[in-house]
Amino acid sequence: MSDQCLFCGIVAGTVPSVRVAEDDRTLAFMDINPASDGHLLVIPKRHSKDLLDIPAEDLAAVTLATQRIAKAAAQVLGVDGLNLLNCCGADAWQTVFHFHLHLVPRYLDKTKDRLVLPWQPGVPGDVDTITALGGKLSAALG
Ligand code: 5GP
Ligand code: ZN
Repeated sequence: MSDQCLFCGIVAGTVPSVRVAEDDRTLAFMDINPASDGHLLVIPKRHSKDLLDIPAEDLAAVTLATQRIAKAAAQVLGVDGLNLLNCCGADAWQTVFHFHLHLVPRYLDKTKDRLVLPWQPGVPGDVDTITALGGKLSAALG
């Protein structure tokens, strides 16, 4: 737990939130600025800064809790789809530095859904660059 961290405050209950589900390792609560109706956040109770920092067991617990909540959302919210989003680093839009997965229900009814694709779909990349970057990552991973 970090004294400076907003989401640690939500875990502790010192910061108010609309809690949706919790277990030993994880907590899910509604996002205060929802991208769509039902947008929520799933976090580890133990503080980790981001995807590069979180221990495997907390990441696994958050992922499994997110799937469980996604199934409930699919049943009770009348969603047409769901997106998961994680922002890792300020340059990747992370604003709260306690790991979280966004679970964003999607709707054909755009009065309930303000999420748009952040990249231009269907624009092919340079094949040589794609191959070179894939090779670099593959070599780093052994
Ligand atoms: P990030 O930009 O780090 O991926 O996402 C942070 C999320 O936390 C944002 O979607 C933002 O709306 C949400 N958020 C920020 N402050 C609060 C708060 O005090 N309570 C709740 N429930 N959500 C918050
Ligand atoms: Zn924290």
